[in-house]
Amino acid sequence: MAHFETESIRTQSRTNEREHSAPIFLTSSFTFDSAEEARATFADETPGNIYSRYANPNSSELIEKVCQAEGTEDGVATASGMAAMFGSIASLLQQGDHVLAARSLFGSTHQLLTRVFPKWGITSTYGDISDYQNWEKLLHPNTKMLFLETPSNPGLEIIDLEWAGKFAAAHNLILVVDNCFATPYLQQPAKWGAHIVTHSATKYIDGQGRVLGGLILGKKELIKEVQFFTRHTGPAISPFNAWMLSKSMETLAVRMDRHCESASKIASYFEGKSGINEVKYPFLKSHPQHHLAKKQMSQGGGIVTLNLEGGISRAQRFIDQLQMISITANLGDSRSIITHPASTTHSKLTEEEREKVGIHPGLIRLSVGLEHPEDIVKDVERALERSK
Ligand SMILES: *Cc1c(COP(=O)(O)O)cnc(C)c1O
Repeated sequence: MAHFETESIRTQSRTNEREHSAPIFLTSSFTFDSAEEARATFADETPGNIYSRYANPNSSELIEKVCQAEGTEDGVATASGMAAMFGSIASLLQQGDHVLAARSLFGSTHQLLTRVFPKWGITSTYGDISDYQNWEKLLHPNTKMLFLETPSNPGLEIIDLEWAGKFAAAHNLILVVDNCFATPYLQQPAKWGAHIVTHSATKYIDGQGRVLGGLILGKKELIKEVQFFTRHTGPAISPFNAWMLSKSMETLAVRMDRHCESASKIASYFEGKSGINEVKYPFLKSHPQHHLAKKQMSQGGGIVTLNLEGGISRAQRFIDQLQMISITANLGDSRSIITHPASTTHSKLTEEEREKVGIHPGLIRLSVGLEHPEDIVKDVERALERSK
């Protein structure tokens, strides 16, 4: 296999038109030459496209690229990251099963586990990463899955993937890792024993804030179950979005290098500055799991958090003084983005739940974009000054 970026650029099928760049297959279904060919394709005896809810050349190309990047065998592309989170759990578990999850999760994933799945008798328990020795006590006889997100959104907690892989193997659990923040360019959970890797492709894989998409990747026998579920429940990605995301994979490596380089500079610059209680970035030495980040990630990622002195009102005044950086809920965009998790993405959690995962009232999440890092620093610095 060639290098990461080469594979991400050169993985492409070509039609008889001999196009250089992959076309968009905007078609809901595919034709057969005969009744017999239709029968054999439906029976899985011959490979071939049937219907875009099942598979489409654009989604297949995207899946192939991301599987190569993650070191996974097969996958499914979905309409959004949440469809991937939902599909990975719903397809592999059934009524009466239990999920053990790390407490720091994306807001909607938390809603899934605490409000959606219990309706169908799938329950969950949260564990704290400061407390690995006690996770065995959190297992129930019906625990089937270990669900993690690392680095976590927005607290940037790092979970030890080597520990998780061993724990899952020892207790016969399906290990699912949401690899959205790191992307396969920085971290490959399958290497550490993850059976399923999920993505919100909306974030760094798109990288320019244009389309939604999700991925569920993993071992063939598990993906077969996921495919059965998604084919018949219908969270299929649009061919247009899959085409967009496959194109974006071509630039993932260069974009991530720049995101990481700038984020690292910005984190170091603001660390210790007055008015900021804490700057968190996985590759800063002061990060509580710095050694783990270094072990399992090749770079620190593109997200930095600043915990501002003065709580919610200061955080909001700070945001209102920004001139360039966008106020929006997305991340992983070419444009730098600021979010105040306590009043937006994680507002549905109670204050106590937020504190447990490090979402302090003054916490600001900065998704460092691809603008010149000096311009990002300037905007943040001016807003800090003016919001004192
Ligand atoms: C955004 C996000 C999701 C959800 O993805 P969508 O594409 O918005 O549905 C899931 N997990 C993490 C970590 C995310 O950041």
